[in-house]
Amino acid sequence: MSRVVFFGIDLHGHVNPTLGLVRALVERGEEVVYYSGEAFRERIEAAGAVFVPYEEPLGFGTHDGGGIETFLITADFILRRSRAIVEAVEEELRRLRPGYIIHDAFCHWGKELARRLGIPGVSLFANFAFIDEMADLDPDFFMENVLRAGNDPLYVKNKGQADVYRKLAAKLSKVVSLKYGVQTDSVINDIFCSKEKLNLVPTSREFQIYEQAFDDSYRFIGYAVEPRADGADFPFERLDERPLVYIALGTIFNDAAEFYSKCLKAFEDGGVQVAMSVGESVRPESLGQIPDHFIVRPYVPQLELLKRSSAFVTHGGSNSIHESLCLEVPTVVVPQSFDQFMGAIAVERAGTGIYLRDPGIRPEELASAVRAVRTVPDYRSACARIRRTLEAPGGPASAADAVIAFAESENREVHRL
Ligand code: UDP
Repeated sequence: MSRVVFFGIDLHGHVNPTLGLVRALVERGEEVVYYSGEAFRERIEAAGAVFVPYEEPLGFGTHDGGGIETFLITADFILRRSRAIVEAVEEELRRLRPGYIIHDAFCHWGKELARRLGIPGVSLFANFAFIDEMADLDPDFFMENVLRAGNDPLYVKNKGQADVYRKLAAKLSKVVSLKYGVQTDSVINDIFCSKEKLNLVPTSREFQIYEQAFDDSYRFIGYAVEPRADGADFPFERLDERPLVYIALGTIFNDAAEFYSKCLKAFEDGGVQVAMSVGESVRPESLGQIPDHFIVRPYVPQLELLKRSSAFVTHGGSNSIHESLCLEVPTVVVPQSFDQFMGAIAVERAGTGIYLRDPGIRPEELASAVRAVRTVPDYRSACARIRRTLEAPGGPASAADAVIAFAESENREVHRL
C-alpha cells in the first residue's frame, strides 16, 4: 500500500475519466491525494481520495483558436504553470512522501515533481491522445487536425513540400530550452503530453486513430462509465414514449447560441423529444420560444440521459464520445475545437456516427443526420462492437493493478541501484 499523489486538471472532462481509477486504487488500499479545483472536491472525495485544491484555477480551456500561434503559446502556458506549481507544492510533496505520482497528460508539473522526488510517474490522457509519432505517419493530418493549422499561410504554402510541423517543433524546442531550461526533441510528447514510462490511454486500440504510432509505454485501458450523482433536478417525468435526441457541446466551448437555435429549428416538428445542455453562458430564454418537446438546461445528467437517448448530437469531447459508446448511442459530431476533430474522425472511421464537417450546417441537414444514426442499424451495431473493445481491458480494476505493479517494479529497481 502506498500514498499516491494525483495531479488533475480542473475541468469536468478531465476529472470524470479519472474517478474510476481513483476508486479502484483506493479499493486496493492506496491512499490517493488528489490535486484539482474546488468545484470538483465533492466528486473526488466521493471516489475515496483526499482532495487538495490548487492555489488558483489552472486556466486550461480558456484559450482556444487553434493554429500555429496556439501551438507556440500553449507550450509556454504549460511550462509557466508548471514552474509556478512545482515551486508552490514541492515542499508539501516531500513531506507527503508519495510512492508515485499519477498526472493528467496536461500536468507537466506532475512529471517534473516525479523526477525531482525520484519516484515513478504515470501520465493519463483525458483528451483524445495525440503524440508526436502520429506526425511521422501523416504530417498533413497532424497539421490540419491536431494543430488545426490547415489554413495557416505558412502551411498552405509548404504543404506537401516541406515538413512544416517538424520545423515548427524544432523551433519551439529551442524556445523552451532558452526560456525554461527544458531540453526536449519532442515538445508534443514531453510538454503537451508529459510522457512517462507508463502512459494510460482511456480508449481501445481499435478506436484510437493512428494507433500504430503508440509504443508499449502506452497502455490502452479501455473506458468505463463511472456513475455520478449530478444534475439531479432534471425533469425526467416529462420524457414520454417518443425517441429522445440528446444535444450537448460539453462544458468548455459551449457558447453556441446560433447552433442551439438551429437545433430548435431542426427538430421543431415534435417527432422526437430533445434534451439540450447549453452551458452557463447561453441563457435558455435568449433562444426564443422553446417548444414543449424540448428540455433546455445549462447542465444535465448526461449519463442518465444517454441511457434513454436514441441519438446524441455532440461536440466530440473524449468523454462524451466514450460515454456514448459505452451506452451504445450513435452520435452526430459537430466538433468545435481542440481534440474534438480527432474525436469526430474516430467516430467516422469506426462507423459509430456521422461527422458533420460544415460549421454552417443547415437545420435540415442536422435533422437528416440524426434520423440516419437513429434509424440505420449499422451505427448502433458499430457502437456495440466498439463498446466491447472498451470493456475488454478490464476497466478501472485492471488499470489500477497495472499502475500499482508498474510503481512497485520501478521502486524496486531504484532500491537495487
Ligand atoms: N457533462 C454532463 N452534463 C452536461 C454536459 C457535460 O454531465 O450537461 C459531462 C459529460 O458527461 C462528460 C463531461 O461533462 O463527462 C464533458 O467532457 P467532454 O470530454 O465530453 O467535453 P469537454 O467538456 O471537456 O469539452
